Amino acid sequence: TQDWQGKRVTVAGLGVSGIPAARVLHGLGAVVTVVNEGDDERARAQAAELESEGVTVRLGDAATLPQGTELVVTAPGWKPDKPLFTAAAEAGVEVWGDVELAWRLRGLDGREAAPWLAVTGTNGKTTTVRMLAAILEAAGLRTAAVGNIGVSLLDAVLGDEKYDVLAVELSSYQLHWAPSLRAHSAAVLNLAPDHLDWHGSMEAYAADKGRVYEGNTVACVYNAADPATEDLVREADVVEGCRAIGFTLGTPGPSQLGVVDGILVDRAFVENRQKQAQELAQVSDVHPPAPHNIANALAAAALARAFGVEPAAVREGLRAFRPDAHRIEHVAEVDGVAYVDDSKATNTHATEASLAAYDPIVWIAGGLAKGATFDELVGKSAGRLRGAVLMGADRALIAEALARHAPEVPVVDLDRTDTGAMSAAVREAARLARPGDTVLLAPACASMDMFANYNKRGEAFADAVRTLAAERA
Ligand code: ADP
Repeated sequence: TQDWQGKRVTVAGLGVSGIPAARVLHGLGAVVTVVNEGDDERARAQAAELESEGVTVRLGDAATLPQGTELVVTAPGWKPDKPLFTAAAEAGVEVWGDVELAWRLRGLDGREAAPWLAVTGTNGKTTTVRMLAAILEAAGLRTAAVGNIGVSLLDAVLGDEKYDVLAVELSSYQLHWAPSLRAHSAAVLNLAPDHLDWHGSMEAYAADKGRVYEGNTVACVYNAADPATEDLVREADVVEGCRAIGFTLGTPGPSQLGVVDGILVDRAFVENRQKQAQELAQVSDVHPPAPHNIANALAAAALARAFGVEPAAVREGLRAFRPDAHRIEHVAEVDGVAYVDDSKATNTHATEASLAAYDPIVWIAGGLAKGATFDELVGKSAGRLRGAVLMGADRALIAEALARHAPEVPVVDLDRTDTGAMSAAVREAARLARPGDTVLLAPACASMDMFANYNKRGEAFADAVRTLAAERA
């Protein structure tokens, strides 16, 4: 705590990470100023509350660095090219994200510092971290799924709860702002274009994801089907003896986990040298047993095994795991048509995985494209599409890709970006679908043009489906 007494810290952004960070730093004795771009009613209310606690808040101006700032702690979503960061660089002031702050504060005042098992990747992070936590729990370890997943790392690091190990989900933004993070072991699940408008290029995005391997002590887990992830392991600077461990849906090589005859097996962490492979679980122990999800299970198993977890706990944990809402969630069947909510498919890579799981499909898509292109996705999935219903700000990009690669597929362009468009979309989809088809909400886009977040989008879809079901019943 001593180091923080009187230290002048600027917190960038009033938000889910900024407010708790400001409170924690103020509590440590730092002199905290929060700078926030917005100056709306909500920001004013939050500012008033923080100011009453002794934190200074500057609303409507986040471009200049407050006098005497010694450290900036930023919300992870803030783009690195903001003037505030240029000013910080010119003044020689470090910028930490929320994860860096938590990493630096772990072990504070003699607290026990639990090691971190970290997961990143374009898709599958939340699922994998939850699987990992379930496995660690089954092994009798005190753990929690934290980070980008919604549970604050700061709480986990500074709270009263004691942990043996943390299962940490990290986004590319968080990794960008976490230069000194050193995980016990980490996995990059896959790498596909996403958030390129933020990072500036695929190379920069990959480099930020690759930070998760820096300084790993036991294992860097990569996806054998995604060579870019293995490249990141090769480029990382790790502790001597740290191993590269692959996962594959096929037969595993010597330092890999994989699948043989419907069984998840481990050839990387085999105690008995005579033994070729350790059986971990059945494919049917994984929910749902779709290929991309088996990959997630193998990655979670690899991290758990790197931490010394026994095979029986891997199986027990995977059996106990159930997926979160809006991730390939079956909502209802109406007139022989299945309605599936994959609102969490916010980019083309995730959408490709869910479109691969059904046939024929009436596809509901659209939203904010975040700089993505849709030709590859539509090209690969065209044969399974019964029809498509488009909405949202960037729907034209998807419509154009459909016109190029699937000209025979009927497309309904709703030309709407209001919240009510979802119920219209479900009606149009119902009209296009035939018994045996699946109506799949897999937007391939972010939701913020129409909804507060992907949860709200998924709920709007489910509500519309239930209304339809009630009418047809
Ligand atoms: P994240 O936390 O990375 O966003 P989630 O586990 O929440 O990942 O899953 C997001 C979406 O990505 C899911 O709805 C599913 O469609 C898809 N998905 C999950 N795992 C994978 C994977 N390993 N590869 C490709 N797509 C995946």
